[in-house]
Amino acid sequence: MPTPRFLCDEMLQRLGRWLRAAGYDTAIATPGDEDRALVEQARDEGRWLVTRDRHLARFRNGDGRIVLLEANDTPALAAELSTRFRIDWLSAPFSRCLDCNTPLRPATAEQWQQVPESALARSTVARYCPTCDKVFWEGSHVRRMRHTLEHFQRGEWIIAGD
Ligand SMILES: [Zn+2]
Repeated sequence: MPTPRFLCDEMLQRLGRWLRAAGYDTAIATPGDEDRALVEQARDEGRWLVTRDRHLARFRNGDGRIVLLEANDTPALAAELSTRFRIDWLSAPFSRCLDCNTPLRPATAEQWQQVPESALARSTVARYCPTCDKVFWEGSHVRRMRHTLEHFQRGEWIIAGD
């Protein structure tokens, strides 16, 4: 199976960010997007539309590829999606921008200058999002997220630090 690409509806933004954190190409709907537009976006971009909305899932018999989830919280939704797609939560951690999904680039020497002194000692990796024009480094937040991805990978559906 080729690596799946996703489009999370606006109710599943947090799940979408975890998928991005794992390295999956994941679009997240903008609030107010029409159902039909989402189905068309999923089709045009070759994505699975992930939703908890049964009304949206009525398009299932159309041309859209729709995954209807039923779980209520983010870890349980991640578990449910994993049963459908065998998600590799450590496939390429933090290789995509969590905010916009763009593949990150290694930070240049100049971009490293933006990493604060206090973070330098513990950060061995810094990455740059050309879309957001922002530099990201492995601070405590990223380390906590990495622990959560490791939990998910082991089938432990808890979010570290919550
Ligand atoms: Zn970005």
